[in-house]
Amino acid sequence: MLAVGLGLFQSAQLPASAAGEPGNRVVLNGRPYVALAEWAAANRLSARWNPKTGDMRMTNRWTRLYFKADTQRVEHEGVMVWLSYPVLRTQDRLYVSQRDVESVLTPLMQPPRLPSGRKILSVAINAGHGGKDPGNMAGARMEKQYTLLLAKEVERLLRRAGLKVVMVRERDVFVALEERPSVAKTRAADLYISLHYNATPGGDEAQGLETYCLTPAGSSSTNDRGGHGGGYLPGNRFDRENLRLAYEVHRAIASQIEFVDRGVRHARFKELTLAAMPAILVEGGFMNSREDGRKIYSEVGRQKYAAALVDGILAYKRLVERGQPE
Ligand SMILES: [Zn+2]
Repeated sequence: MLAVGLGLFQSAQLPASAAGEPGNRVVLNGRPYVALAEWAAANRLSARWNPKTGDMRMTNRWTRLYFKADTQRVEHEGVMVWLSYPVLRTQDRLYVSQRDVESVLTPLMQPPRLPSGRKILSVAINAGHGGKDPGNMAGARMEKQYTLLLAKEVERLLRRAGLKVVMVRERDVFVALEERPSVAKTRAADLYISLHYNATPGGDEAQGLETYCLTPAGSSSTNDRGGHGGGYLPGNRFDRENLRLAYEVHRAIASQIEFVDRGVRHARFKELTLAAMPAILVEGGFMNSREDGRKIYSEVGRQKYAAALVDGILAYKRLVERGQPE
């Protein structure tokens, strides 16, 4: 159980649009929280709350969400997205942190849209690691080899879909982390997609897909265990777009390929902090997992994964370009 300190929240600290009546805002564990039932009503969702199990399900014609007390996640359309702070319950009500309303729930409910006349025309693909930096290792296999093979497959499919592609590296060369997003910027890419594979040092029990976007300004990263939020970084200009891009790509991959779903996560990875465009980093499985290895090391596995990833990029493109002339 999480220790909960309940106190009245001063409404002056919250934007008026945040959550209905002031009585629905409280301070829990020293942080502003919003009552989920009222948030649902404000977003025209009907909510069903089961106090026994701590589950809350919300639906309307367009969408469905699922929350559970004392977890740090929300499921939106079946896609698992990590929150910065846990969902908490007090007596008979369920609460979500104000930070998570702003940085996760709002972009999920109100997807970003490009300014009129703007389009996604080119995508930067970063094959993680390279040269003297092998990345993760599994036996003799090096992450840098497989991220490059994957990047080339993604490049092929994006070009076939009519997009320009900026390849951060095309060979086995070392490129410093901070240079990678600047290659994308110099060549005017509209999105930055960084390709990586995970590994655990001992044993092969961990497996699954993780998609990262930059931790929103003022929020806590997924692996921080609810620490205090960090400040504003260059990549935080795109907080809403970052989350939505991660969501669309994660959703496309998770729906097409059988992965353990480790969710959309938040981290302050250097590449993401410096990106001058919406950016994500995808960890497409664990190199030392037998299950994931089949997807990583085989050509067929990589082709399927690349196709799903590109579907996600194209879904994001359609979403942010909606309402624009063809
Ligand atoms: Zn890596």
